[in-house]
Amino acid sequence: MKKVLLLGAPGSGKGTQAKYLVDEFSFKHIAMGDILRQEVADETELGKEAKSYMNQGALVPDDVVNNIVLNKLQSMANTSYLLDGFPRTIPQAKFLEDNGEAFDLVIYFHITLERVLDRMSGRLTCKTCGASFHKKYNKPTKENICDNCGATLIVRDDDKPETVKKRYETYINQTEPLLSHYNKFNIVFEVNAEDDINIIQEKIKERIIRK
Ligand code: AMP
Repeated sequence: MKKVLLLGAPGSGKGTQAKYLVDEFSFKHIAMGDILRQEVADETELGKEAKSYMNQGALVPDDVVNNIVLNKLQSMANTSYLLDGFPRTIPQAKFLEDNGEAFDLVIYFHITLERVLDRMSGRLTCKTCGASFHKKYNKPTKENICDNCGATLIVRDDDKPETVKKRYETYINQTEPLLSHYNKFNIVFEVNAEDDINIIQEKIKERIIRK
């Protein structure tokens, strides 16, 4: 059983690689952003609370997100999983540790702000399955249609340029400190997120098989 965290700025390609890893290795994929977007779309109480934070590029408070993750993890004991978007802060990492969850591997996607802005300005997301495409770098086969499930592709509300900048700042201030945290456990594998998608895929595959 493998427990893997995907760590990296918004737009660093975590979601794209996650889809590949799920198909290749049958990991369970838990993407906190997708869970929250579903709550917003369903207009639940939780979704209403999360929406204002998300649209400002800020983090949703820990008391909202922590238990969502814990319930998911506890419902799938003995399953290999990929966590994407959680933890995003040191207190969230400690929360997992306090509850007996420890990663075997942290894949860190290294990328510059300039490249994030370039990527996010063309990002298209499937409104049904959450798959990511790009107008220039990762075009869907049919314009505006998801290759995976055939639903329509949209631009996420929080992929507007001003919100992207704020999300990147939030990432640098609150999430990147996790890198030193996990380095202490010697479990970080760094990839250059500016490489070609297929090259990154191969490197990650090799690393996971080796683990
Ligand atoms: P993502 O799709 O991973 O970029 O997440 C979209 C948004 O959901 C983020 O900008 C945050 O507002 C919120 N979010 C996702 N994961 C977390 C988390 N672990 N803690 C707090 N907020 C989160």
